[in-house]
Amino acid sequence: MTSHVLPTYARVDLAFERGEGAWLISTDGERYLDFTCGVAVNALGHAHPYLVAALTAQAQKAWHVSNLYRIPEGERLAERLCEASFADTVFFTNSGAEAMECAIKMARKYQSANGKPERFRIITFEGAFHGRTLATLAAGGQKKYLEGFGPPVDGFDQLPFGDLDAVKRAIGPATGAILIEPVQGEGGVRVAPLPFLRALRQLCDQHGLLLLFDEVQTGIGRTGDLFAYERTGITPDVMAIAKALGGGFPVGACLATTEASKGMTAGTHGSTFGGNPLAMAVGNAVLDVVLKPGFLDRVRHSALLLKQRLAELKDRHASVIAEVRGEGLLIGLRAVPPAGELVDELRAEKMITVAAGDNVVRLLPPLIVSEDEIAEAVARIDRACTRLARAHEFARKQGAG
Ligand SMILES: *Cc1c(COP(=O)(O)O)cnc(C)c1O
Repeated sequence: MTSHVLPTYARVDLAFERGEGAWLISTDGERYLDFTCGVAVNALGHAHPYLVAALTAQAQKAWHVSNLYRIPEGERLAERLCEASFADTVFFTNSGAEAMECAIKMARKYQSANGKPERFRIITFEGAFHGRTLATLAAGGQKKYLEGFGPPVDGFDQLPFGDLDAVKRAIGPATGAILIEPVQGEGGVRVAPLPFLRALRQLCDQHGLLLLFDEVQTGIGRTGDLFAYERTGITPDVMAIAKALGGGFPVGACLATTEASKGMTAGTHGSTFGGNPLAMAVGNAVLDVVLKPGFLDRVRHSALLLKQRLAELKDRHASVIAEVRGEGLLIGLRAVPPAGELVDELRAEKMITVAAGDNVVRLLPPLIVSEDEIAEAVARIDRACTRLARAHEFARKQGAG
């Protein structure tokens, strides 16, 4: 397989030509059940007619205008995101990492605008993933991603996930914010305990810090709420979202309160493409669907159904599935054999899933997944587990004999 694409991904030799809802059709005509969704991006599945119509209609008007002018579609999307959340203001980006960059810059600028420029440090957590730019890599703190790229951007203090005492000890005169994913996605679908999140909010209030949530993966309905913070009973000051916001069109956003964003005045930040009319039209169309009464109820119902069925599978295949965890339709199967083996077996069953940290296989079906498709997924996972269990049993016996 020769390719002129920079080989930063260890790609599977498989390409898709088109998709329909929860299904992807490969270039060799096979139908795959898509439980990856571009890693939580295609929230409404593939080729959703409403999104296709919105994109096509906007494509015939204006694709791009400069942020030097008002963009009504963007003002409307910002208004709706604020209406549906804690936020008062929105900066649009093209990706999750850029939304996170805005959040990080905003936190630093906030402290500086308050006369405390020395408070630029941000507390982050082990297992985090915030993106691949230099600052977001430093925030994520994963050694394997930082290796060879020079000194990491300064200003991040990483602590064990869920360790409140460590947070209390780490807050110092240079601390300005705390950054966390309410559910770690790449880190292995690790759900932050609610008391921990609430305690972080308290600490932030007590010490004049901003609480930043990275909801790039959890946002826009993935966890069964529009945003994962909703079930916590607290609100962040700043929140990055992206993946599902464009349903497959690249768009991200940094949401904030008026107070948290007070340093971000004209000229302090920008993006050429961020918030262009095409992206904004699609973002509005995604919200039209996700905010329809009953849509998120159905997501919660599907999530419950899938989780119940997965719990049964776990009981039956204890030698393959160690744990089922997650929130809503962000589900992790912690595997007993290497997670990659289960991903491969599932792909052999024409079902695509994605590995995460902590030896977890992530299941990220589209939010529109049907009960029949859930049943189909469970049957495929069942068969993949059976095969994998047999293979390992065989290997063990070979080893013993
Ligand atoms: C995917 C992801 C990012 C990075 O988003 P990109 O669009 O790849 O830059 C940041 N944070 C979280 C939690 C993510 O899942």
